Amino acid sequence: MRFLIIGGSDAGISAALRARELDREATITVVLADGYPNFSICGLPFFLSGETPDWHQLAHRTEFEGIEIRQWHTAIAIDPERKTVELVDREKHYSVLPYDRLLIATGAAPLIPKIPGTDLPGIHTLHTMEDSFAVDQRLGEEKPRSVIIVGAGYIGVEMADALVHRGLKVTLVGKTESVLATVDAELGHTIADELRRHNVDVKTNIDVQHISSSNCLHVRGSNDFEQSADMVLLATGVRPCSELAISAGVVTGARGAIRVNTSMQTNIPGIYAAGDCVETWHRLLQQYKYLPLGTTSHKQGRVAGENAVGGTKHFEGSVGTQVVKVFDLVAGRTGLRNHEAKDAGFNPRTVETNAWDHKVYYPEAQQMKLRVTGDIDTGRLLGAQIVGHWRSEVAKRIDVFAAALFHEMSVDAMNDLDLSYTPPLSSPWDPIQLASQNWCGKRWEKGGC
Ligand SMILES: Cc1cc2nc3c(=O)[nH]c(=O)nc-3n(C[C@H](O)[C@H](O)[C@H](O)COP(=O)(O)OP(=O)(O)OC[C@H]3O[C@@H](n4cnc5c(N)ncnc54)[C@H](O)[C@@H]3O)c2cc1C
Repeated sequence: MRFLIIGGSDAGISAALRARELDREATITVVLADGYPNFSICGLPFFLSGETPDWHQLAHRTEFEGIEIRQWHTAIAIDPERKTVELVDREKHYSVLPYDRLLIATGAAPLIPKIPGTDLPGIHTLHTMEDSFAVDQRLGEEKPRSVIIVGAGYIGVEMADALVHRGLKVTLVGKTESVLATVDAELGHTIADELRRHNVDVKTNIDVQHISSSNCLHVRGSNDFEQSADMVLLATGVRPCSELAISAGVVTGARGAIRVNTSMQTNIPGIYAAGDCVETWHRLLQQYKYLPLGTTSHKQGRVAGENAVGGTKHFEGSVGTQVVKVFDLVAGRTGLRNHEAKDAGFNPRTVETNAWDHKVYYPEAQQMKLRVTGDIDTGRLLGAQIVGHWRSEVAKRIDVFAAALFHEMSVDAMNDLDLSYTPPLSSPWDPIQLASQNWCGKRWEKGGC
């Protein structure tokens, strides 16, 4: 059995490792267009900030026992009839590899806004190891003093933090009312305040329309936005790399991502797909969405790898869990926000609670903001968002909500959970339980959202 995998990042390598674990006989080959198998691109902002000084440290692993890794090999065509993949390497040597089972794990690429000037020198994106080397080289050799980051999503805010660390004057330009539009504006404003506290110039409600260059780069946008900087970073989202799959007859769906079932099979027998190039099953919405994330890519890859060698595993779906650290704060979310829940046909209410992360008599207690969304009619938990200090275990608290959402718990049932307590870390009622109690108290209140 020959299992061929196109793509050597989170999804591809997870699949290879799982297949190897379950089937000691299969021939497992991973081909990847670059030379960085299983590197953590999620760690690029920390390499660029200098907190992780050596990029080699970003390797999730360097040993791939029993798996053939072909670096710098780009797949250029899939022939599903003959079950072959055509490859080209850096020296322009062409080759053909046969397969019995194929996994497409080609990931995503930066989404470049369709505006003039995005190809000018000094304009960067950040998705691959090589993108990060280009940014690092510019920072080291040309010593830019200022940067405009276009896009205030999680990569934009992480890079604002990273480039302040590197001593640059940072302007962060976002299209929405508040930064980090994946959380409610109330929490986005807290993150914006944290960015400003570290001298980031935060500009919101700006649609960037034009970039030009003279001795520096000029960025213009709506609401009379006009600013110059030595460097521009575009962090305006990603798109699935599905062209190769499409040319082989693979069907796509949301945002052009590859359509798969929960076994991670495409419409073509023997061809699986996983990671940022596919649509993801959303467990709460009961529909496919485009949700490109590392954590999801690992899980989907593992399912695809297991099934490619004869397993019957299902990807159980995402509940939309995300977390990001920005200077001293962390913002996390899981499940649905109020408007998303309403659009999905629920009757939601969102209640905000402020709580201490641990007993105030123990030093360094910090306030955190929690927003819980539940269904008024059924009491079902629908989502949660938290912003708090980075030492306040925001991520793990969001994960408790994520586990509860996975099991369709009610908000009230959060109070029955046997959560751990010691004064330096929590309270007898953990903040997530205080927030749940607050939601239950306000569930039927008139007004509110
Ligand atoms: C700066 C940054 C920070 C991030 N932070 C987080 C985070 O904190 N948490 C989180 O969950 N996610 C995060 N992500 C997202 C996460 O990194 C991705 O979701 C994840 O890497 C996707 O994995 P993948 O295997 O699907 O694809 P990718 O990582 O995009 O890799 C695609 C692979 O396919 C190969 N390839 C593509 N086309 C071909 C071809 N034709 N032939 C051969 N090989 C090919 C590439 O060489 C590569 O090996 C971050 C992403 C970035 C860029």
